[in-house]
Amino acid sequence: MLVKTEVIVLRSMKYRDTSKIVTFYSKEYGKLKGIAKGARSAKNKFGSALEPLSHSMLLIYKKEHHDLHLISQCDSIDSFRNLTEDLDRMSTGLSILELIDQVTHHEERTPAMFTLLVETLSALNASTKNYQTYLHAFQLRLAALFGYAPNFDTCGECGKPVLIGDGERQVAFQIVRGAVFCTTCCTPNDHSVHDSDQSIASTALSIQGLQIVRRLVHAQLSSLSNLEFDARVGNEMNELLRLYLRYHFDGLKPLKSTEFFQQQQLSTM
Ligand SMILES: [Zn+2]
Repeated sequence: MLVKTEVIVLRSMKYRDTSKIVTFYSKEYGKLKGIAKGARSAKNKFGSALEPLSHSMLLIYKKEHHDLHLISQCDSIDSFRNLTEDLDRMSTGLSILELIDQVTHHEERTPAMFTLLVETLSALNASTKNYQTYLHAFQLRLAALFGYAPNFDTCGECGKPVLIGDGERQVAFQIVRGAVFCTTCCTPNDHSVHDSDQSIASTALSIQGLQIVRRLVHAQLSSLSNLEFDARVGNEMNELLRLYLRYHFDGLKPLKSTEFFQQQQLSTM
């Protein structure tokens, strides 16, 4: 069956002398894998539209009961140029692709995921700073699509709104229940409501961190570059979301692109 579908290329690898095997996330069919014959030859008709992070329109021969399809034609919709010209932005973009690749199965159709992926990469491509927050916003929204939306607004125990500005410096966020707790129900150092595995049960969230994470859940993606926060809060978000996703997505591996980026930062300090 010959089908046309809009995709984001997740990864590609060399195959034999001149071909490529490409994994992509498509709007109509979810994650798929295809072979592009001649994609590495002198007469490459695909151009750069099969490189990771590309937003492309593919024409594929989709074979029933096969997991490798034939890519017949490929046109670029957007190459997200800024993503590949800057190491920080590229590493964030690649982390987003790695995450999608890890949490999805082949041919599981989720159009909302495709929309989220395209919107996040477009916003990151147009961003001017705070690149990591695009990954964090993506992680939160991805969790919500899988039914694991965390609650940062009302207390996971008593249900009252968790207010900012009553002299508290931090609150507790329970990884397992995906909820923030008011200080009456649980202080960040209070272990009374922790689950048996305390290493992942709860984490302290600063008040500035709570304000930022609420913005990450609700704000327009295009406005994330305008957020102002300390580097400490960025690290707090990294850790909170790493623990939260690891708990909810079985077997989730650390994101290689994020680790690479952190090593680069350490080596330049
Ligand atoms: Zn409470």
